[in-house]
Amino acid sequence: MIQRTVLTGAKLLKRTVGSSLYRQFASGHREIPALTKERYPVKRGQFAEVTDGDVSKFKSILGGSSRVLTQAEEIQGYNIDYLGSVRGYSRVVLKPKNTEEVAEILRYCNGRKLAVCPQGGNTGLVGGSVPVFDEIVVSLQLMDKIEKIDEYSGILVCQAGCILGTLEEKVNEKGLVMPLDLGAKGSCHIGGNVSTNAGGLRLVRYGNLHGSVLGVEAVTAEGRIMDLMSNFKKDNTGYHLKHLFIGSEGTLGIITRLSIFCPTASKSVNVAFLGLESYDAVKNTFLAAKRGLGEILSSCEMIDELSLESSTQHFNLQSPIDKYPFYMLIETSGSNVAHDEEKLTTFLENSMEEGIVLDGTVTNEPTKMRNIWKLRELIADSLINDGYCFKYDISLPLENFYDIVLAVRERVGPLATKVTGYGHIGDSNLHLNVSCQKFTPEIYKLLEPFVYEYTSKVRGSVSAEHGIGFLKTKYLKYSKRPESLLLMGQMKQMMDPNGILNPYKVLPC
Ligand SMILES: Cc1cc2nc3c(=O)[nH]c(=O)nc-3n(C[C@H](O)[C@H](O)[C@H](O)COP(=O)(O)OP(=O)(O)OC[C@H]3O[C@@H](n4cnc5c(N)ncnc54)[C@H](O)[C@@H]3O)c2cc1C
Repeated sequence: MIQRTVLTGAKLLKRTVGSSLYRQFASGHREIPALTKERYPVKRGQFAEVTDGDVSKFKSILGGSSRVLTQAEEIQGYNIDYLGSVRGYSRVVLKPKNTEEVAEILRYCNGRKLAVCPQGGNTGLVGGSVPVFDEIVVSLQLMDKIEKIDEYSGILVCQAGCILGTLEEKVNEKGLVMPLDLGAKGSCHIGGNVSTNAGGLRLVRYGNLHGSVLGVEAVTAEGRIMDLMSNFKKDNTGYHLKHLFIGSEGTLGIITRLSIFCPTASKSVNVAFLGLESYDAVKNTFLAAKRGLGEILSSCEMIDELSLESSTQHFNLQSPIDKYPFYMLIETSGSNVAHDEEKLTTFLENSMEEGIVLDGTVTNEPTKMRNIWKLRELIADSLINDGYCFKYDISLPLENFYDIVLAVRERVGPLATKVTGYGHIGDSNLHLNVSCQKFTPEIYKLLEPFVYEYTSKVRGSVSAEHGIGFLKTKYLKYSKRPESLLLMGQMKQMMDPNGILNPYKVLPC
């Protein structure tokens, strides 16, 4: 039965993932991962090693020692990724404050052939944000200035190190929303989001960042500042170079500033949480939601039973409905409360009458909406609490969408603690997660390349939204043809002749 609570307003869910995770490593709650070079077969490139002279040069570029970190304990967090799947051993972290400093750093590193790893909020899930060996970390943490929010045009101009959640709060004050939203918004940077072409919970409504990002300023490996900032949606002046930096995961340049189109905030937001019997029912409900809710549909997420069990148990959360094999979280955002409610009520009544939805709750009360979103957003964190989690972020045709979860469950059997599937069904994007007590080569070999071969057979994508990073380079060939790989390699060579920018990432080594 549908329960309804009617109140108004919406507030941002804000969390910090990264820092709490480092505390878990530091306090011994989670095992510090093996060094990447020990866990994976990878060879260090012909790069120079950092000397005392280099450190002095960095201090002179950054005006002293406070923004040049060299102490082991202050660097540890920059060397380990969020998942605890990779660990580098960088000895230097640099924290520039502006584009010129980034340009000077890269010019110097390129001249010395010192490899560099750009880092945003370090919430990436493919091992792209931390060094593989001893690359110098260039952290964008201090580049967090918001330069302009124009409520007329909806354009936000800011530095790349702004935290997504902070931007969301600031643009909300001007009646706007960020065109992207993800569970890591309390820590991830907008520059990291653009570098990974992050998708997230609102893509179904606002499209991906290739559309929303109007302009980019980036520094190339040789220290050239590329001013590709534009404040217009329409700008057909030759090649659209900004797109090279969107989704290239720090391998072609360091993004320093951005201009982004932010849509107008919706006056009326509703969240529905539904219980369903089968994956087929999920698929049919998605179709019914698209047809019945039309332009007000702003999120459409699927959660399986084990995923919900994980977030409720680990974080002591309460599901608002009974247990079902599948759940859906549907959000609507519109401008007319009565109109939106009528649409949502009709959609839900029809779905329940037809028997595709068994149970549900709908709310527009801020706290209740936040609590429902937490059930979904905390799944990722809860699964890594099992010890270790293999994460696969794949695009699959909707007819085969959930089959892979069943196939993997059978394949790994008792070696896994949980094999779960959840994700952005509105974008055909499944998050397949296999949690276990700790990383073992035995389970790793059962999963890879199996998952990628399976995905390739149904012509899916081996990375829907998280990128390729370090962990997926050898599987890129399952989604990209040889001619595309060749051209990507040529572009890398042209833009970064010494290969200093985020080596061992994206392109197969
Ligand atoms: C709980 C949780 C939920 C998540 N949900 C989603 C989701 O729904 N959708 C999604 O797409 N992702 C999701 N992610 C993954 C991650 O948050 C995104 O990939 C995010 O965009 C990374 O941003 P970041 O600032 O943390 O970047 P980092 O992790 O620091 O870096 C990611 C990559 O970008 C590069 N990079 C970072 N900043 C720059 C820069 N300024 N210039 C050039 N390169 C740079 C790094 O070198 C690295 O290759 C989630 C992660 C977590 C932990």
